Amino acid sequence: MSKTKYIFVTGGVSSSLGKGIISASIAKLLKARGFSVTTQKLDPYINIDPGTLNPYEHGECFVTEDGAETDLDLGHYERFSNVPTSQANNITTGIIYQSVITKERQGEYLGETVQVIPHITDEIKYRIMLLSHKGNYDFVITEIGGTVGDIESLPYIEAVRQMRWELGKNCVVVHLTLVPYLAAAGELKTKPTQHSVKTLLESGVQPDIIVCRTEKHLSAGLKKKIALFCNVAPTSVIECIDAESIYDVPLLMHAEGLDNEILKKVKVKCTQEPDLADWEKFLFKLKNPNKEVTIGLVGKYVELKDAYKSINESFIHAGAANQCRINVRTIHSETITDSNVGEKLAGLNGILVAPGFGHRGIEGKITAIQYARENEIPFLGICLGMQCAVVEFGRHVLGLEGANSTEFDKTTRYPVIDMMEMQKKISGLGGTMRLGAYPCRLKKGSKIFDIYKTENISERHRHRYEFNNAYLEQYQKAGMIPVGINEKDNLVEIVELKGHPWFIGVQFHPEFKSTVANPHPIFKAFAKAAIDHAGRKKRVKRK
Ligand code: GLN
Repeated sequence: MSKTKYIFVTGGVSSSLGKGIISASIAKLLKARGFSVTTQKLDPYINIDPGTLNPYEHGECFVTEDGAETDLDLGHYERFSNVPTSQANNITTGIIYQSVITKERQGEYLGETVQVIPHITDEIKYRIMLLSHKGNYDFVITEIGGTVGDIESLPYIEAVRQMRWELGKNCVVVHLTLVPYLAAAGELKTKPTQHSVKTLLESGVQPDIIVCRTEKHLSAGLKKKIALFCNVAPTSVIECIDAESIYDVPLLMHAEGLDNEILKKVKVKCTQEPDLADWEKFLFKLKNPNKEVTIGLVGKYVELKDAYKSINESFIHAGAANQCRINVRTIHSETITDSNVGEKLAGLNGILVAPGFGHRGIEGKITAIQYARENEIPFLGICLGMQCAVVEFGRHVLGLEGANSTEFDKTTRYPVIDMMEMQKKISGLGGTMRLGAYPCRLKKGSKIFDIYKTENISERHRHRYEFNNAYLEQYQKAGMIPVGINEKDNLVEIVELKGHPWFIGVQFHPEFKSTVANPHPIFKAFAKAAIDHAGRKKRVKRK
């Protein structure tokens, strides 16, 4: 394609309508038609990135290959399109202002008064265009965070207005709204959509396509009504009905003609239908499981749906790969004690101890790990989960009483997890961890080597603490084996337990690399181990 086309996705009426999923679905459909795509999120908040945000505020913080701490929607983009994102794919108001203010201090504006228009909007436009220059993409899909009418997102909408003017046909605006069903009236209502489009028009932006989130089908008459009031063709009113799974959305959007409509607007001829055969196969396996397991997710943010988003999605991918329904039972680590652990973790075929920061809930995690180790329940520890496994093994197998991570006990006699040397000189909190992809070499003959079937892997990290190599020999002799090493910095990245059916701790985050097209091998193997565990349990019961 000669010129990059820009697709903007805005949202109206309410937050949480699923702009991220719609953006990811558009990316999937265009990629399945053979186009190169990238998807970007513009976030209107003033933090530089969500890295310093509490998960209660913003859900999970997704980490990219290049070590950016980003919005969790980037996880959806990657999981749907199988295209890695980068720092450039998540821009915040904080980044925009920081960059403009730095330029101002360096005298780059040559004495001009620095203003929202044009300086802030120019910076926004630059960050959108930068993506296409970087990757030479056919399509750049940009999701604008927030809801139209928000004060915070005004500069972004203004940048969209300017770009539409400048780019003409190379640009399309998709507006996602809600068509609520009023039970008392027994009717779907279009008024909120009309108002939302009006608000967008006040900022000078006419949407080209309106995607209507709804719980009931929209009649042709209703679509016509929305079209009439919102200045679009009836074919440009796309129904987005509540789906059983987010992974149904690309197929539903294709059936509704969203990708076709987009191509029509940007005047791209494409006779090739999207190749969705593998996606359909995945959905079939997801919806037709022939077995079932229950895995416990032990963490301290379990009441929050989005806090472990990528882990939950990885289980969906791994479940489909094994044609197995994986029930994820969340267990609050603060509630687990020595006396109730058997009851809390009863009936589980696998236990995952989640990543995290800070002292709260640590002891419960350690107790859960001891239970998994002693009862031969498949165990996966991710980042903090692996660190807790090392602490548990130190305390209960090696007899290092009070062993701990120095994150939780600075004066412990046995600092089996300690801050990395490279982290000790750093003072600020934002973007200062060991972040992004690092290589790791796997030990041949280990379980993990069997899982990856290769010696050299690369995985994404987000942490400050590490296995303390002073204890390496002691651990190895007792059966906790370092089976993945970062050779350059001599860091233990993976441990596994000898004699246990499946006990693996990883310092990195496999969940950030699991996609529909490539379910993560560790999650696939963990699901398989849980299936085997369920089989063993059944056999014992029968006897
Ligand atoms: N708090 C731990 C560290 O900084 C683990 C971080 C994590 O689980 N992502 O090393």
